[in-house]
Amino acid sequence: MNRERRVFMLVVSAISAAAAASLARAQAHLDEKDPQAAALGYVEDSAKADEKKFPNHTASQICSSCALGQFRTGESYANCTLFPGKQVSAKGWCNAFVKRGA
Ligand code: SF4
Repeated sequence: MNRERRVFMLVVSAISAAAAASLARAQAHLDEKDPQAAALGYVEDSAKADEKKFPNHTASQICSSCALGQFRTGESYANCTLFPGKQVSAKGWCNAFVKRGA
């Protein structure tokens, strides 16, 4: 293999590794129909929580202010310790909500 070909192969390999790492970081959003999510009444929009089923829900309870969410300022989606490998909506809610700092 000549030098140019080796360099080309190294560059392609490095780009592929970077792309794979990037894909690994981009996690899927949690589906409201996921069995565990549905069991906890997870909704992408806290305003759409089932008030009859979850009477303790309040409009101010959103994933971005939950102690289990791992949100940084301005993020629309982030990880939640309850749902490994999936990301929840900043405006979402589930019945396991725990106010951050409480
Ligand atoms: Fe959102 Fe908290 Fe429920 Fe996770 S535990 S889905 S951050 S309300």
